[in-house]
Amino acid sequence: MSTTQELQHIDRTNVWHPFTQMAEWVQNDQLIIESGKDNWLIDTEGNRYLDGVSSLWTNVHGHCVLEIDKAVQEQLTKIAHTTMLGLASVPATELAKRLVDILPDGLTRVFYSDSGSTAVEVALKIAFQFQQQAEKGDPNRTKFISMQNAYHGDTIGSVAVGGMDLFHATYKHLLFQGEKVTTPYCYRCPFGKEKANCNRDCFQHVEDVLEQHGSTAAAFVIEPLVQGAAGQIMHPEGYLTHVRDLCTRHNVILIADEVAVGFGKTGTMFACEQENVTPDIICLAKGISAGYLPLAATVASEEIYNGFLGKHEEFKTFFHGHTYTGNPLACAAAIANLDYFEDNNVMEKLQPKIAHLQNRLATMLELEHVGEIRNHGIMTGIELVQNKETKEPFETATKIGHKVCIEARKHGVIIRNLGDVVVLMPPLSITLSEIDLLCNATTEAIKAVTE
Ligand SMILES: *Cc1c(COP(=O)(O)O)cnc(C)c1O
Repeated sequence: MSTTQELQHIDRTNVWHPFTQMAEWVQNDQLIIESGKDNWLIDTEGNRYLDGVSSLWTNVHGHCVLEIDKAVQEQLTKIAHTTMLGLASVPATELAKRLVDILPDGLTRVFYSDSGSTAVEVALKIAFQFQQQAEKGDPNRTKFISMQNAYHGDTIGSVAVGGMDLFHATYKHLLFQGEKVTTPYCYRCPFGKEKANCNRDCFQHVEDVLEQHGSTAAAFVIEPLVQGAAGQIMHPEGYLTHVRDLCTRHNVILIADEVAVGFGKTGTMFACEQENVTPDIICLAKGISAGYLPLAATVASEEIYNGFLGKHEEFKTFFHGHTYTGNPLACAAAIANLDYFEDNNVMEKLQPKIAHLQNRLATMLELEHVGEIRNHGIMTGIELVQNKETKEPFETATKIGHKVCIEARKHGVIIRNLGDVVVLMPPLSITLSEIDLLCNATTEAIKAVTE
């Protein structure tokens, strides 16, 4: 194997990293991860780091989990890949049933792809085409309603329904026109208006948007309960139910993007469960394969699916499909992931961990430059501010969130920020003492950088 120095040289010379200002990146020696065990990452120098953001929100039960490793290895002895265009495969077929069994009732048709972005892309195209051709559709419904600061991925369609200027503004001429709901959530509510009033405004606002655009909208796309990439923004209680009711009333398809929140992250298997909401289409990725392999699923209701049935020459077919769609290795990992959830009572064991994390976060809120801490399940955003009273942010150029994350590595913890929000999102398999380490390291790093 190449030495660390050789790898770092190649990385600086030949690799272009995602979401990375490479001019700054190449000035530093980068950590190179070589292996992982349980909730830990190990670099080429043998240093161990707690995986505090579950390898970008994907890892669920830790790294090198024997049962999942075995499932992938076993599948590898049979076949690594076979196409779903014109053929079916054993793991992709079995996984579909497993997913339908645990999803909210009524979601029955699994369409595979390879990333969260494509899962959303697929959902948008399904919704649009449904309106164009289905008996129950309406061809005048061509708009999409989405949330302010939404993040649904980086392909053009999912960017079009995204609402984060930083990531999306550059491409605005490439995007289709979506109607955007603005300020629908209770961001920083406790510091601004009285919470009850703010909630009412949120609820009223989305109602107004549906009133205005409900007859021309094909679908409403939402990250249920928590807007992850926006900085772990929590919707007020009942908001999702409210959106579901409005969509039903206005005949708008509801697309739930559970790419981030799915597979236990909010304390239930799926976020929609917490408000007893069944969307018409759900998007799954990230945790679906336990963070092992690229896999995504867009699952639709029978009613949506039926809108695509007809004779060949009616061209009602959903003309979409990625080459590696339903990859058997990834599906085998996903089945093993679901087995692991069941066999180890993962969701039950998670509850005391969430409680412990919340206790620790309550203490961290006392730090001088922590303006707000948002948490739901294990999804956590710690917002750093210049001034605790006014919530005045730090100057962008100080890159305060990034500095905190780099500092945390000195304490053996890998975390990643979203701007001034330090995100904690450990694997569900994190232990109580690892939660302590995660919170201690983050606290020390915040103090070192901000005080
Ligand atoms: C990460 C994410 C996506 C995009 O997933 P990729 O696999 O990175 O394409 C989409 N929606 C949400 C809510 C996400 O958090």
